[in-house]
Order: sequence, then structure tokens, then C-alpha cells
Amino acid sequence: MKHEIKVNKTNSSRINEVDFNNLQFGKEFSDHMFTAEYSNGVWSNFQIEPMRPIEFHPATSAFHYGQAIFEGLKAQKDKEGNILVFRPDMNAKRMDISAERMGMPALPEGLFIEAIDELLKIDSTWVPTNENASLYIRPFMIATDNYVGIRESENYKFIIFTCPVGAYYSAPVNVYVSEEYIRAFPGGVGFAKCAGNYAASLYPLRFAKQEGYDQILWLDGIEKKYFQECGTMNVFFIIDNILITPPLDEGTILAGITRDSVIILAKEMGIPVEERKISVAEFIQAHKENRVQDVFGAGTAATIVSINIIGYRDVKYQIPALETRTISTAIKNQLNQIKYGEVADNKHWMMKVKVAQNLEV
Ligand SMILES: *Cc1c(COP(=O)(O)O)cnc(C)c1O
Repeated sequence: MKHEIKVNKTNSSRINEVDFNNLQFGKEFSDHMFTAEYSNGVWSNFQIEPMRPIEFHPATSAFHYGQAIFEGLKAQKDKEGNILVFRPDMNAKRMDISAERMGMPALPEGLFIEAIDELLKIDSTWVPTNENASLYIRPFMIATDNYVGIRESENYKFIIFTCPVGAYYSAPVNVYVSEEYIRAFPGGVGFAKCAGNYAASLYPLRFAKQEGYDQILWLDGIEKKYFQECGTMNVFFIIDNILITPPLDEGTILAGITRDSVIILAKEMGIPVEERKISVAEFIQAHKENRVQDVFGAGTAATIVSINIIGYRDVKYQIPALETRTISTAIKNQLNQIKYGEVADNKHWMMKVKVAQNLEV
């Protein structure tokens, strides 16, 4: 290991207070967190310490000017109890990409992965063993200057905490295509996992929810013609047996790691994949001709989420029944088998956490 991480373990674990059979996403927190500080141009003070509230000065710049970015990834246990983390190198890279766009510092090379590895070793018993459950890992970085004024902060905090989460039951979702509100423009911050992107989506989502929709399917901000993504998941269409997803080149779409994995697995399965613009008009035409076979979202939380209805203006476009969606089901099963170590990991996607003593029974 390259970085020295000081460990201060709790002497009162909360694990027995947690009902692992009734985990709600994002509401239970493991015993420890990793913290690091940036000041005078360097990252230092790498620590694993008991999970606890932290005090911040009211002028902390992240609260006012929004230099705040995050990541999300998952760890699972295989049948032997090994902890497997899904593609953490990709999250490490994306964290640096988000940081750069928000004028924040990159992390020291390797720290992201080492910190997760150490944290999971210490909280290894928090990785659920229940079927399809996992440990959600939330790394984030915030600006911590106590300063009122717009400038890049000189001080930052990088923290990782984790949440045991249950099997994600992903009911098919209904999405509404918004023409009024826009998530991302070329030149903007759509490709960054920055806090403000999610804050900006809440008000539009309020109205969509009133109409019975679960999420918004965002359009490009210039022509309002082309699909972008769903705001927490990337979107895929299957039309004429071709898997189509919007391209990343305009910087308006978050480069999902699930998205990347779906594309790789689909190609392996011999499914033609097109990363290209897809317009509402193309979708409507194909829908009219019964050529739309599947529409789904892809993201870490649920892997693959079937889309049931796409609402556009006053029309609800029904996507075919779940039983017919054999391609996305096959991709989802393959992804889950890789994540839980049930098939050979020939792409070396899984990082194995080496727990010295396996205390599991
Ligand atoms: C996190 C996120 C995704 C999904 O990315 P994964 O790496 O697959 O979890 C998609 N879109 C947005 C806007 C996101 O924030």
C-alpha cells in the first residue's frame, strides 16, 4: 500500500442494531468512515475513524457555492464470503474528472482504491450476505474554506462512508420527457457527478411525480429533440434488435459505469450496439411500427431498470411487457453473476478485498 492510513476503530459497533433483512437504501451506515484533507496543495491526514457527525463552519464554501462531488459503487460477498467491489478503478477516474470540472483537486494516485480496500477490511462484517444485498460505497469531496466569495476553495475534505443495502427491487418505472426543464448543455456540468445536478432536478421531478411518473427523461438543451438520460441512470433503447444509447461526446451525459458494462456485455453476446443520438421522433415512429422492443435505465443502484411508459406531451408510450425483454434480462443476469462472483471474471472487473481473518460464520 502506498498511503499511510491511520486507523481508529470504534469500541461500540452498531452492527447488532441493524436488521439486515429489512435494509432501506441509504438509511443504515456502517461503523467507520475514511477521511482525508486537502490544504496547501496536498492531500494528507488519511484516517479511518468511527462514523460520526462532523462540524462545519457556517461559511464552509461547499454549502454556498456548491463545490461538491460524489461517487457511488457497490461491494458484494460471493458464496465463500470474499468481498468483491465492482470496477472501483472506473469510479476513481470519474471522481477525478468531476473534480477537474468543478475546480477541485484530483486525489493522490491510488488513494481512492486503497481507502475503499482498507475501509471494507475494517467493516467487512457490514457487507451483507443476504441474497442480492450489497454494501453501497459513497465517496465524496467538498470544499471546506470558511470564506464568503466565489473562488476555488483552498481546502477540501474527501470522505468515504458505506451503507448496507438490501436487494434492490426495481419495479419498472414510468418516465416523462421534459421539454420545459433541461438537465445539461454542451459546455456545462452534465458529465460531472456534482451535487448541483441533482438539486436542479428536484423541482421538475415534483411535477412529473404529480402526474404519476417516477423519473424525468431529459432531452438535449438546444433542439430539445434528442434523449440524454434519466438523471440517476443512463438510458438504452432496443429497436429492431439493436441496442441504442446516446453518446457521451457532448459532455451532457454522465458516463455511467453500468452503461459501459452493459455495452461491453451486449457486444460479447453478439448484440449490435450503437452509441448515437436518438430523437424523440425516431422513437415515436419506431413505436408506431411496433419496432421498439425494450427501453431501460442503467445505474449502480439497481443495475438495470425496465422502463414501462415514456410520457411525451400528452401521450403515454407503452413499452412491451417485461416477459418479452430477453436481451436486457440476459445482460442484467450476466452483470449480477459477475458482481456476486458466480461466473469467471474474465474482464477483471472485480476488486477482491483481502480480509485477513474472515470472522463470518
Ligand atoms: C451515477 C449516475 C449514473 C449511473 O452511473 P453508474 O456509474 O452506472 O452508477 C447515470 N446518470 C447520472 C446522472 C448519474 O449521476
